[in-house]
Amino acid sequence: MDGPGPERSDVMRGAAPEEAVDGTEHRVRVVVIGAGQAGLSSAYHLQRRGLEPHRDVVVLDANPAPGGAWLHRWPALTFDAAHALHDLPGFPLGTPDPKEPASQVVNRYYGAFERKFDLPVVRPVSVVRVEPVPAAAPDGGTPSEQGLTGWAPDDDVLRDRSVAPLRVTTTAGTWVADVVVSATGTWDRPYWPYYRGRDIFTGRQLHTHDYRSAAELEGLRVLVVGGGTSAVQFMLHLHEAGAAPVWSTRRPPSFTRRPFDPEWGREVEAEVNARTSAGLPPASVVSVTGLSLTQQYQAGMDAGILVSRGPLAELRERTAVFADGSEDPIDAVLWATGFRAALDHLAPLHLREPGGGILMDGVHVVKEPRVLLVGYGASASTLGASRAGRAAATAAIAGLRDSTSHREAAGNLA
Ligand SMILES: Cc1cc2nc3c(=O)[nH]c(=O)nc-3n(C[C@H](O)[C@H](O)[C@H](O)COP(=O)(O)OP(=O)(O)OC[C@H]3O[C@@H](n4cnc5c(N)ncnc54)[C@H](O)[C@@H]3O)c2cc1C
Repeated sequence: MDGPGPERSDVMRGAAPEEAVDGTEHRVRVVVIGAGQAGLSSAYHLQRRGLEPHRDVVVLDANPAPGGAWLHRWPALTFDAAHALHDLPGFPLGTPDPKEPASQVVNRYYGAFERKFDLPVVRPVSVVRVEPVPAAAPDGGTPSEQGLTGWAPDDDVLRDRSVAPLRVTTTAGTWVADVVVSATGTWDRPYWPYYRGRDIFTGRQLHTHDYRSAAELEGLRVLVVGGGTSAVQFMLHLHEAGAAPVWSTRRPPSFTRRPFDPEWGREVEAEVNARTSAGLPPASVVSVTGLSLTQQYQAGMDAGILVSRGPLAELRERTAVFADGSEDPIDAVLWATGFRAALDHLAPLHLREPGGGILMDGVHVVKEPRVLLVGYGASASTLGASRAGRAAATAAIAGLRDSTSHREAAGNLA
């Protein structure tokens, strides 16, 4: 098993260890935001390339415990009901009990990984915003005069977008870093689509984000909206739990018998990359992969449970009206309508393109060389996130080399 150390580079040479300016402001080389698969993989690879935990790199995570988004997944989502969980680097998952909740399996696995490789995860810390350190304080002081230690006191360097540091403001103090790896996933941005009547419907409405157990909805007529794996699983669970589920999808469900193989993986990746490298928001996972048809899903279709009523047209006080004009009495709506990338903390950097997405080149944000985005677009799976973490570490180290040589050049000129 490999671990941090053997791939050490000389990138830190010449950089003095930097300390917290005071109890709440810290200076590091790299801040990783999020300790899910993408953030943990990034931190592991950064340490392997020579960065010291806490001194050079820190991982800030909003969760109270290890597990990333998996920590919040509903208890009935057992490990065998999840898609494959790819290994974190250098640390095989092994063969967990397939009937154990995925949330517990992943909490244990990520926690063991963090301990094994001494990853500098600080939690719970929620990043509120990331922004450039201003070139000058209102009274004309430079950032170094404002207390940002370990930084060349040269305003020309500080004005250079590619090397000036970024300030990461959190619920537990401030970090200043040369590079930010953003790995915040999607779980914190549940997507609630707008439908006419959503505000006058008098029954319960909940999202996948808030779903805990089908038993909570026992005996109710539940409209499940969405065409992804979560919706399919909710339909079957609700039926088993004695609810009366009704399914609405915008398009006919796209079940596929194609086994997931590397070639298909590459096709999916290329399709997602085509959007993000054009500055468009990533498409939903299911629109690219379709739904893998399992025996359980086939049985659900044969039993008449997994049959879509087609698109929802509107909600009324206690009914759902479908696009074909039919109407059903409903007690609750379960919005299994997916998630969007949780990127509000990057808003001050104005990264969005007119198309609504972020223009990406691999893990690089084209507009902002100091920010690397992992777990976004084609890397929004445990496999993609693990790989993106490695790419981000390589890119971050290159970025640090550039900023170090820039600083040295500035120092020589001074
Ligand atoms: C319902 C569902 C099921 C899925 N099932 C699978 C599956 O079976 N297999 C698979 O490969 N993929 C699956 N995915 C895809 C999922 O995206 C990946 O599994 C992967 O775990 C995501 O890893 P991540 O590190 O990008 O994000 P996450 O696991 O979401 O981790 C992000 C972390 O960042 C933290 N964070 C967020 N915002 C902030 C902030 N502002 N400040 C500080 N911390 C923050 C969060 O607390 C969290 O710990 C599923 C996704 C969903 C929504």
